Amino acid sequence: MDDSLSDHGGRTAGEAVPTRGALAADGLSVHRLLLLALSRVPNAVAISGAEGEIVWANAAWSSLTGHAAETAYGRPLTDLGDGVQDPDADATWRTVLAGRPVQGERRIGARDGEARTLTQSLAPIPDATGAVRFVVAIWTDVSELEQARGELARRAAQQTAIATLSQHALGISDARDILAAAERTLGAHLDTVPTAVQWVPEGSTHDCASPGCSGVCVSVAGRCVLTLEAGEADLNTEDLGFLRAVAGVVDATVERLDTRAEITHLASHDGLTGLPNRPLFLDRLSQAAAASARTGDAFAVLVVDLDDFKLVNDALGHETGDEVLRRAAARLGELVRPDDTVARFGGDEFAVLCRALDSAESACGVAARLHTALETGFDVAGSHLPVSASVGVAVGDAATDPATLLGQADSAANWAKERGRNRTELFTPQLEEAARARFDVTAALRHALEHGGITVAHQPVLELATGRIVGIEALARLVLPSGATVPPDAFIGVAESNGLIGALGEEVLRQACADAAPWIATRKGFTVSVNLSPRQLGDESIVHLVERTLADTGVPAAALCLELTESAMLSGIGTSEAIRGLRALGVALALDDFGTGYSSLAHLRHMPIDGLKIDRSFVDAMDASTKDRALVTAAIDLAEAFGLATTAEGVETPAQRDALTELGCHLAQGYLWSRPVDAPTLAALLDEQAAPA
Ligand code: C2E
Ligand code: MG
Ligand code: MG
Repeated sequence: MDDSLSDHGGRTAGEAVPTRGALAADGLSVHRLLLLALSRVPNAVAISGAEGEIVWANAAWSSLTGHAAETAYGRPLTDLGDGVQDPDADATWRTVLAGRPVQGERRIGARDGEARTLTQSLAPIPDATGAVRFVVAIWTDVSELEQARGELARRAAQQTAIATLSQHALGISDARDILAAAERTLGAHLDTVPTAVQWVPEGSTHDCASPGCSGVCVSVAGRCVLTLEAGEADLNTEDLGFLRAVAGVVDATVERLDTRAEITHLASHDGLTGLPNRPLFLDRLSQAAAASARTGDAFAVLVVDLDDFKLVNDALGHETGDEVLRRAAARLGELVRPDDTVARFGGDEFAVLCRALDSAESACGVAARLHTALETGFDVAGSHLPVSASVGVAVGDAATDPATLLGQADSAANWAKERGRNRTELFTPQLEEAARARFDVTAALRHALEHGGITVAHQPVLELATGRIVGIEALARLVLPSGATVPPDAFIGVAESNGLIGALGEEVLRQACADAAPWIATRKGFTVSVNLSPRQLGDESIVHLVERTLADTGVPAAALCLELTESAMLSGIGTSEAIRGLRALGVALALDDFGTGYSSLAHLRHMPIDGLKIDRSFVDAMDASTKDRALVTAAIDLAEAFGLATTAEGVETPAQRDALTELGCHLAQGYLWSRPVDAPTLAALLDEQAAPA
């Protein structure tokens, strides 16, 4: 193929060939047509000689370079009117002169200030000898295409940046970090960078129309999440979309952190009072121990157990109970220093951590303030409720293990409960020993309840006037696997504090009634007395228990007497329903250990009781003390006046017996006649009495 400068009828090889007929019809030569075509194409076309001086250029070249077509002749082909020399110009020119076309891109700084990108094609036009005589150059402005391509790349980068930010956000645990990351992302992918990225949570006071805000804010799901500084509002739709996506990541992250914070709070705080719970308390305790290692200060734990709180719940309902707990929590909080911790461990148990204390006395001082604060009481649901607490105090230092210290305070609180409640006990090594003993007793009690180790001893009750056995008092015994017998004073208190008293009481009542049933059946007016713990009066289930036991053993209600202590009678709340229920069954109630508690004689008239048991200590002291004798006399007289039967406990000597008989006491029990004995022995005693003298 010949593509040199020789003319073959005015046609250049390779072009689309119109038929000569059509050209002739239009009166056109090929030369003319080509000239027209080159002049009209939107691409800038210029032809230069081998020296690079332009010999011909089209109108598009003029528009591109700003040089009028008439001035084109002689200008360098590489001059595109922007005054910038193409850095590749020499290399390009050498290639073209060597006979090879060159295609490439060229950026020019156009006259209007906006840089443009052109594609550039240079092709050599050789003569017959192969020497390049002319060079034709074509430039096409592809700036817009380039710009669109750039825009696409930018969007893709923004998409990637959002994905990266989202990924990064998953590992963030501090809201400030996501804001910083968002700021970096925006900075890298926006031309106008917001200088302040700020998360504005829903419900905050941020007002987009306020002077403080530029009015440029990004909202996600109806809340403003990013605000931009004034003057940065000049964003296109795409960038605003990007900004919104970044804001969405910020928002989701902050929300996730909020939720996590909420979950963490829930996991470490008590739902009812909002106080820290046990794990968090232990954590603070560890911190206190660590601080103590640095400062040498001691610290203390107070375990605060509200007394008989179950009764409040049972009598006044759980809502009232909850309210009392909330108020008690608040009051405890008011008592301590800001860096102390008040926690709730559930139920009616609170704990206080006092940091930087100088002595155990100071800790007990806090406990004393706490008792006073609770005793003031709470006005809840129309009632004024004084609250007392059993408090255990343990003092620790750097060497103390937190869990151990808490255990010590807990033991001390239990001890305070066992010693009668509404008091403070300080943990000591002796107390630890006692706690261990109580632990052993608990284990023995559990074992006994499961394996029949609870038995009942019967002590006869005699009619003083006749000396006849008219009843028995059933007294619990704990028999150890070794065969040794433990007296009730060693296990009743423990059973009361560990909750086993219910099962224990049930067992004693059942055995007592079962043992006494034949004696009751054969002896007119014979009674069986069973001791009841105040704990057992906490709810009405005791009524059903008694009713069922009577039915099961065939003992008539009138033959059963339940002995209650003064504290059970006087504690008031909750017990009244149970007492009413028991009385309705027709069982008798007696006030046990009269004289050892607080009740004045005046109280007696209001008590729903049928009998009075004068405590052994008075009977004992009657001989020596006229005061005690006077009290016994007054008690018997008053009981008489109120129609109550009196029983003297612990009668050991004939002199005591005679004195009591003289004072008009009806009944008595004591070692003078018999110690508590097992059922066969008591049966033998009864038979002995029944036998004719
Ligand atoms: P309590 O109800 O006042 O029982 C009388 C206690 O005095 C019994 O002690 C009895 O053995 C003792 N005693 C009787 N006569 C004499 C005497 O002449 N001299 C002396 N020194 N003591 C005498 P025990 O069996 O050790 O019971 C002690 C307390 O344990 C009882 O005092 C009672 O309050 C409680 N208790 C016993 N069994 C039960 C029970 O099943 N349930 C509950 N809740 N408490 C019980
Ligand atoms: Mg008794
Ligand atoms: Mg007694």
